[in-house]
Amino acid sequence: MKIGFMGGSFDPVHFGHLAAAQDALERIGLDRLFFVPAAQAPLKSGVVQASGEHRLAMLRATTDDDARFEIYDCELRKGGVSYTIDTVRQLRVQFPDDTLYWIIGADQPERLHLWGEIGELVKLVEFIVLARPGYARTERTDIPGLRMHQCEGHLLSISSTELRERVRQGLPVDFFMPHKTIEYIQKTGLYR
Ligand code: ATP
Ligand code: MG
Repeated sequence: MKIGFMGGSFDPVHFGHLAAAQDALERIGLDRLFFVPAAQAPLKSGVVQASGEHRLAMLRATTDDDARFEIYDCELRKGGVSYTIDTVRQLRVQFPDDTLYWIIGADQPERLHLWGEIGELVKLVEFIVLARPGYARTERTDIPGLRMHQCEGHLLSISSTELRERVRQGLPVDFFMPHKTIEYIQKTGLYR
């Protein structure tokens, strides 16, 4: 089987993530797709705004009714800084016979050399890079063994940073994220 994993903060999850996941699923022909919320992403400036519990709840509200999407919550359960290499080592044990893909947006390839033990990571997973407005396609010939599949996708110019700012300013976030996520943010008062 071909299994894709999309890591991120999902602070909050939005249609950019979901469309990218759907595009990867369809265009690469994945059999399963997991979102992997990080407890704390190593390369993010500042800490995440919403707790792991809230971010997981928002992801669940979105994926519970959708049989195509699953959640792999080991990074949240473990806590601390979440290194993809640790997660992937665990995944290799859990899925020994499958082809594993790590799905990233186009803002990530230029930072890939900064990822922990990238030389080991590239042996264990192939990367799928989803195009993202504002980020040029980046090839990395300097990372030996890197397998990177470019995926054009639907190009949604949406980021969690912008959505957190819109909530803070009291602007509507309709049409950028699922209705259930919006309800959750309103109910909990997140990002205000
Ligand atoms: P933030 O603004 O807080 O960084 P974000 O919108 O970039 O949030 P992340 O949780 O950082 O969301 O992203 C998780 C993964 O999803 C990353 O690999 C990122 O590149 C990818 N991604 C996020 N938004 C998009 C988008 N609109 N199109 C394609 N990929 C995306
Ligand atoms: Mg980001």
